[in-house]
Order: sequence, then C-alpha cells, then structure tokens
Amino acid sequence: MEIKLTENQNPRHPPEDDSKLGFGNVFSNHMLIMEYDKDKGGWDPAEIKPYGQLGLEPAAACLHYGQIVWEGMKCYRAKDGLRLFRPKENFQRLNRSAERMCMPSVDVEYMVGALKEFLKIEKEWVPKLKGTSLYIRPCMVAHETFLGLHKADKYLLFIILSPSGPYFKEGFNPIKIMVEDKYVRAAMGGTGEAKTAGNYAASLKSAVEAKKKGFSQTLWLDSIEMKYVEEVGAMNIAFVIDNEVVTPELDGTILHGITRKSVLEICKKLGIKASERRISIEEVIERIENKSLTEAFGMGTAAIIAPVGSISYRDQEHIINEFKVGLIAKQIYDELIGIQYGEKEDIFNWIE
Ligand code: PMP
Repeated sequence: MEIKLTENQNPRHPPEDDSKLGFGNVFSNHMLIMEYDKDKGGWDPAEIKPYGQLGLEPAAACLHYGQIVWEGMKCYRAKDGLRLFRPKENFQRLNRSAERMCMPSVDVEYMVGALKEFLKIEKEWVPKLKGTSLYIRPCMVAHETFLGLHKADKYLLFIILSPSGPYFKEGFNPIKIMVEDKYVRAAMGGTGEAKTAGNYAASLKSAVEAKKKGFSQTLWLDSIEMKYVEEVGAMNIAFVIDNEVVTPELDGTILHGITRKSVLEICKKLGIKASERRISIEEVIERIENKSLTEAFGMGTAAIIAPVGSISYRDQEHIINEFKVGLIAKQIYDELIGIQYGEKEDIFNWIE
C-alpha cells in the first residue's frame, strides 16, 4: 500500500530509557490523517504528516456537539519483529461507535493496512523493554464548521502513537477500587457501548473523587437500580467465584472490550470455567466475605490485566485474596502477554 508521506523536518528521538516510560505523554514524529467529506464521495486516502496541530476552527462541530469516537490498541516488540494485537477488532469497534454517533464508517482492511505502513515509518518508536509497548490512538472527529445541532458531513480521522510503560504505578500488583453509588458512567439506551469522548468526560468527576480518597479506579454500577456491576474505570471487570471467571454480560451500557473477549477465549483454551452474567454488588461483597469470591481483575488494553486487591462499598473496604495477585489472573495474564510479546504461540491468530 502506498501512502503519501510528508516527513517531519524537526524529528525528535524516541525516549532513551524505556524503564522511565509513563502512559500517553510522549508522541512520535508523525500522525496518519484522513479526511471525509460526504459531498466529495467519502474518505480521501490516508496521508502521513508531521505530528502537529489539526487546525480546527472554533466552530468545528466536535468541539460543541461531541461527535468524537476513538480507539486504543497496542503494538509490541517481539524478537521476530513488531506485533499488532487484534487491530481489526479495534477498527470494527470504531465503526460500531461511529454508527451510534451518526458518523461514517471506515474500511477495516484498509485501515489495518494503512496502520501497518505507518508503523513501518515509526518503528523505532516501539519501545524494547518487556512490559512496554507503542500505544496506538485512532480518533475520528466532526470538523465541519457550524452551530445548531445536526449530524456533520465532514470528518477527520487521525492516528497518533505513544510509546508507553505501565498504566498503573502499581504495575502488575493489586489496585484498590471504589464502588460508585452516586454518579453513573452510562445510562441504558445511552452511549455506553460506544467509545466516545462524552463517556469519558462523564466519568471524570467520580475518578477525581476516587483518587482523592486513595483509590485507583471507580467500579461502576448500572444506571437504573445502582445494583449491578458494569465496569471498572476504563476496563472491563471479572471476578473468580468458586474457580469460575464471571464477568458482567454486555447489556448495552458496557464497552465491548477486546481484552475481555480475549480473556474469555483464553479461559476456554485453558479449561477455566467462564461465564457472562449479571452480578450485583451485594453478591460480590457477600462472596468476598464468605470467601467464595477469591479474585477480581480489570481487563483492558492499557493495563492488560489489573488485579483488584480491595473493593470499597459504602465506606467499607473488602479485601480480596489478602491483597495478593490471584492464580487465575496470573495464568491469564501470562498467556495474554506471552502471545503479545511473541513468547507463546499465537494459536488464536490474534497477531498481525
Ligand atoms: N471499558 C472502557 C470504558 C474502556 O475505555 C476500555 C478501554 N478501551 C475497556 C473497557 C477495555 O477495552 P479493551 O480491552 O478493548 O481495551
């Protein structure tokens, strides 16, 4: 695939010390960008340009009406080269998010091909140390200029790249989370299933309050009864109950996580029982206390697997597995990162 490249005339070097990488605060020299205009027949071909200003006008529709969808995926450096983890899934989800937000879809095969070309140019930005990766952020915004709410006909899609280290300062160690019983992330019939900016803005207030109280993440409940567990921060959640992995079923408000889907497939392969069902916070607390719930963990691209050491509900902290990493979480984590870093055979064909 040929993609027009305008080289950055002031290139920077990737960070030298991979062990000092944080998350999402360094960007590579270029961005991939595509423009959509309904009147001109849709998407123009992708171009690669120096990372820089988008040149949005103050009347750009996304700044007012929030037509913004994005994705997050990673490229890992293995001995045999670079490995992209399930990128088709991400572009398919981008299309589902876009559909919900009245935005145009992209050609998934084309996007994966364009991303691979882009990565060839920026390959030195994929860090080398195990546990680090190149975080890839595709984002689509309505940049047509108008006021007065209606669907836009002009969009920009860009992809930026960020060499990243661990998402949590704890690394692969248990985090403390807090059940949110005042705010909700997503309402039934709303946009919770879409990866759209407004969902993240809506979640900030709780995240700030949780952080102030010393918690890493918010555990969200459903919007109708404030009873059923949904997600944890920007991750899906799973519990181990009587040696079975239990994760809330996708009810329309929960993001269809690609890590979650991968974990369910790994469980099948490893012979670990797994199920998707509604689970109430009362059940979770009761089972932590009677010790039938032995592990909890978040699942997401950024942190991969984040073991949960305690859940606080109504100002009471409930400790899980003596605040230690559980065996099942560890087994699943090893399998996932083994495939991502090329140390285990990719029997699922997840790597591109
Ligand atoms: N839920 C939310 C709200 C998220 O933002 C994310 C991160 N994309 C996830 C779950 C996990 O999804 P994935 O495994 O695809 O990263």
